[in-house]
Amino acid sequence: MKKPYEFWFVVGSQFLYGDEVLETVAGRAKEMAAELTKVLPFPLVYKVTAKTNQEITEVIKEANYRDECAGIVTWCHTFSPSKMWINGLSALKKPYCHLATQYNREIPNEEIDMDFMNLNQAAHGDREHGFIAARLRLPRKVIAGYWQDEDVTERLGAWMRAAVGAAVCRQMRVMRFGDNMREVAVTEGDKVETQIKLGWQVNTWAVGDLVKEMNAVTEAEIDALMAEYEASYDIATDNTAAIRYQAKEEIAIKKMLDSEGCRAFTNTFQDLYGMEQLPGLASQHLMAQGYGFGAEGDWKVAAMTAIIKAMGKDGNGASAFMEDYTYHLVKGEEYSLGAHMLEVCPSVASARPRIETHHLGIGMNEKDPARLVFEGKAGSAIVVSLVDMGGRMRLIVQDIEAVKPIMPMPNLPVARVMWRPLPDLKTGVECWIIAGGAHHTVLSYDVTADMMRDFAHMMDIEFVHIGKDTTPEKLEDELFISDLAWKLK
Ligand code: MN
Repeated sequence: MKKPYEFWFVVGSQFLYGDEVLETVAGRAKEMAAELTKVLPFPLVYKVTAKTNQEITEVIKEANYRDECAGIVTWCHTFSPSKMWINGLSALKKPYCHLATQYNREIPNEEIDMDFMNLNQAAHGDREHGFIAARLRLPRKVIAGYWQDEDVTERLGAWMRAAVGAAVCRQMRVMRFGDNMREVAVTEGDKVETQIKLGWQVNTWAVGDLVKEMNAVTEAEIDALMAEYEASYDIATDNTAAIRYQAKEEIAIKKMLDSEGCRAFTNTFQDLYGMEQLPGLASQHLMAQGYGFGAEGDWKVAAMTAIIKAMGKDGNGASAFMEDYTYHLVKGEEYSLGAHMLEVCPSVASARPRIETHHLGIGMNEKDPARLVFEGKAGSAIVVSLVDMGGRMRLIVQDIEAVKPIMPMPNLPVARVMWRPLPDLKTGVECWIIAGGAHHTVLSYDVTADMMRDFAHMMDIEFVHIGKDTTPEKLEDELFISDLAWKLK
């Protein structure tokens, strides 16, 4: 599912310095792009040393048009008068990062003269360049530092992942089987506004069409997927029929998703007409392949799961559809226990998952659904929720510290992750509730709050971050100001 995205390196200059300087700038920019490509998650492709309005406009038109171009990275080795950037930058539709760096790390004490100064003047070239983006109110990322330093390449790489999230977001299609769970508010939202803002195509297909597709699945297709299950998971049930039924569901859902170009889907336990089991293992194994999923018709979390997975390692990171279920409120060991009825992505498992079958009382299940059961891994992570505030979308991100679950919970028949929200459970929960965050989230171990902030800026949506320094009082003030600002926007 990973697409071959790349980023374009656009270097600003002007004719004032003569051909020799321009050749040196172009040569160094090529070298930097090639070296950076070795350490970045996506290729950085040198495009042009731009000296005219026309060159800049041309490269930006091309960047907008090319699907493989996920963003542009600009830099001014020399001075590049910024009025010639206005027409191009005004038309820019792709994510934009200004890398404020310098080819040389050191000021060469003995060699420095005015020729050196004319060639190496990013310190003022980048200020001229920065002004025009500020003047145009362009959303952009500014990263300053030496281009070979790890902190710089890591930040640039993280921004690239956010930009790929934006590219995946713009092309998102969500397949809905059934509507939202009756009466639930937070899973609702304005699909037209979301398509205008985020590009998502969210549409519905009949559960009956899925059942028809399931009935067309062959035993040979099921055998092949069963072999895949056996290779990835331990089979901890004798109920092979239930597993084969999930395989049939997975194959049918995947065929429908792929035929419509959908990368995420939703279903609801209230509408399983003609199905014996709620897809559990089926949804989990589809998520493991990079598809997004949202239960109870939650199309926002379905799309966000797919986007955040695409932003992660190798285009399919350790990220899962998640739900806050219940708390452990013992003083000194306060945790949230996350799980779902069935559907947590095994990419967050600490060990090889088991396939089990158990009775599921909620919904229209005629038979016991098969599902993957596992513990989530320990480590720093985030939970993400996208909510519709009426007139705008709000992206809420909370830092969490996941732990090995502190008790085995042998009778809990579902995958589980245990974590401490930051800054601590009580404050973290208060802040989350104040911000209006949902019970459904995407939990990710390899996407950071900074990446989500970049993503929110790229998509021009509100961003709320709850971390170690957040207090309910500060957050309330921040949300009050933010509400006013977004109403004016
Ligand atoms: Mn749920």
